[in-house]
Parts: sequence; C-alpha cells; structure tokens
Amino acid sequence: MKIESKLAQIGNRKDPVTGAISPPIHQSTTYAHPALGQSTGFDYTRTLNPTRKIVEDAIAELEGGVRGFAFASGMAAVHAVFSLLSPSDHVIVSSDLYGGTYRVLEKILKPLGIVASYVHTGDIAAVEAAATPNTKAIFIETPTNPTMQITDLAACSNLAKARGWLCMVDNTFMSPYFQRPIEWGADIVVHSATKFLGGHNDVLAGLVVAKSEDVAERLYFIQNSIGAVLSPHDSWLLLRGMKTLALRMERSAMNANAIAAWLDARDDVAKVYFPGLDHHPGKAICAKQASGFGGMVSFEVIDARMVPYVLEHLKVITFAESLGGVESLMTYPARQTHADIPEDIRNAVGVTDKLLRLSVGIEHIGDLIDDLSGALEWATEQVFARGRRG
Ligand SMILES: *Cc1c(COP(=O)(O)O)cnc(C)c1O
Repeated sequence: MKIESKLAQIGNRKDPVTGAISPPIHQSTTYAHPALGQSTGFDYTRTLNPTRKIVEDAIAELEGGVRGFAFASGMAAVHAVFSLLSPSDHVIVSSDLYGGTYRVLEKILKPLGIVASYVHTGDIAAVEAAATPNTKAIFIETPTNPTMQITDLAACSNLAKARGWLCMVDNTFMSPYFQRPIEWGADIVVHSATKFLGGHNDVLAGLVVAKSEDVAERLYFIQNSIGAVLSPHDSWLLLRGMKTLALRMERSAMNANAIAAWLDARDDVAKVYFPGLDHHPGKAICAKQASGFGGMVSFEVIDARMVPYVLEHLKVITFAESLGGVESLMTYPARQTHADIPEDIRNAVGVTDKLLRLSVGIEHIGDLIDDLSGALEWATEQVFARGRRG
C-alpha cells in the first residue's frame, strides 16, 4: 500500500467485534485477566492501551521501523530517547535546534552528566571533529528549526554506524509523508506529533519509532517506567488527524513553495530560509532524501523594528507558537521558541531579532500572500516613514 492509503486507513479494521471504521477510545485503565497467568495482551493502560497501540503501530509502519511509542508530548518523546544515554555519555546535536530540546539537554541532562556538543550536522567533518571517546549518539533535525539547515541523513547514519553511535532524527518538520530517516539508516525517529502529524492544533503528542528490536525493547522499558504516555482520547485525536496528513502536507508545501519565492523577491525581506529555493545550500540533499520541501518558511525582515508591526497587522495568519496545523501561524523565534538560548548562540545560528518563522497552512495561497503583503507594507511604512519624520 502507498503511504496515502496507509494514512487514510489508520484505525480501520481494528475492532472486529463491531467493525467500527473509527476505532473506539478505550478509556479503561485496567483489563480483566481471563485466568491466573493469562492476559488479553492488555493489563494496565500505561503499559499498553488499545487506542494508543493503533497510533504506535501506525507510526512504526509509516516510518519503516519495528515499533512505535506514543508520548504525552514531543518533549516527553525527546526525553525518552535521550534516556537511552548514561552519565558521562556524550551526544552530538544539530546546532540550530528546537529550543525545548536544547533546554532538556542543558538543564535536565547536563546536571546528570550527559553532555551535548552543538555542531552543524550538515558538515560531516565538523561532526567527526566533535566526536569524543564518550560519544554515544547523534541527534539531528533536518531541516533545522528555524533556519532550515539540511543534514545528509545517509552520511550521518553511516558515520554513526561506523562509530557505534545511535543515530536519532527529529522528523517533526517533514513528517513521514515527505521524509523517512530510517530508510537512510537512522536508528530512531522522534516526532512532536503536536505539529504536522496531528495537524489541527488540538492535540499535544510525541512519537518515537525504533528501527531495531533491541532499541525498541529499551525504549519500551523507558516509556512504561516513566509513564509519560499519550492518553487514549489524545491517541484518537492524533490518529484522526493523521488520516489526512498526505493532503495537508501537499497543500502546505505547495503554499510554502509559492510564499518562499514571493518573499525572496521582496526588498523589505533580507533573507529567506526554505530548502526548496535555488540559493539554499542544502537543496540538493533535501531533494535527494525527502519527497517535498515541507511547509515551513523562515525569513528576515530588513529591520528588527518592523517585527511588531508585521505581527499586529496579520489578519489570516495568526501570531502564535507552534506549527504544522491547517491554520497558518507566524512565530518570532528569538522571543518565543528559542528564548531559552543565549543571545550570542542564537545570533551565531541565525536566530536573530529580525527572523520570523511561518508555518504555512492549507488556506488559499492568494489570501496568505495578501496578508503577508499587507503586513510587510504596513511595517515598512511605520518604521521608515517614522524614521523620516523623526
Ligand atoms: C514542537 C517541537 C518539539 C516539542 O514537541 P511538543 O509536542 O511541543 O512537546 C520538538 N521538536 C521539534 C522540532 C518541534 O517543533
């Protein structure tokens, strides 16, 4: 079956008793044992829940792994993956990284003795140079959030395999519809399913997929022991959202391509970060390992003073955190998602005070362009006309 069909069919044929097309939400926390030493396969809901299992099986199949795990948030999923490491272990991480992942690494794991080095993982020589005898894993975002750096998944996976590291990929931005890192050799895929997989800004969730049984066993132990599992109702909301992933990703990517090209041609925009643009250094690698460039576009306006005016003028696009939903959202990374990263590090990776990030939704492209155009013109007028007056 092709991925569009797998997605549409999530949850169907899972309830042979009633034939429900939309699977039931199993709220029961516990399950009757048929007899001493026997189980229906379900004992206690932290350990395994029928509704959660549908999402877990679905993401494993979509990503091409052996087993999936659903968590209460993307951060719980990220933390579970890093829980495979032990004190004194070292991990190499993409330098331009989701702020929450940086916070877990620096504020939770570092005090426990797990140390991270931040490098541009698109530069394999830099990755090799960052390795220490204690390196146990590499954690990649491609494209990165928010400056869209691209990492060659095959090259990193091969290096990881040669050195005995685990290769972990946060695939939130692309989703398995566009990119399946396990096919390029990754050991583990992580998602904030709150974003494209859920797709409607109405469920917080995280997913993990393991390529091998060995890693799956260890992740299952962590998931069941710590217990940050996805609730049955949220599992149902997530699987409902995932059914339309293919259509939503296609439309978001189409809109994002058009918006990136349109922004790139404007005088009030200094820089556009989108892997589908010809001047993007990672375009060829992104095109090799993904079947689309995604629905995220970041751009710099020419003057940081324009930012509040752009944000206040938007009427279709909403100024809000998060991404990957049907509604277009604009984020100001320096003050929102990346506020926990020190300013010098932020600027070095391009998360400047002029940078805005756009999660392109599935609205009509004409409405989105009109909205951006109105906001940019308003901002330019406010900042530069005032400058002339004052
Ligand atoms: C949002 C996000 C996370 C964190 O996920 P939550 O569901 O918000 O906990 C992790 N990685 C990336 C790339 C994200 O965008």
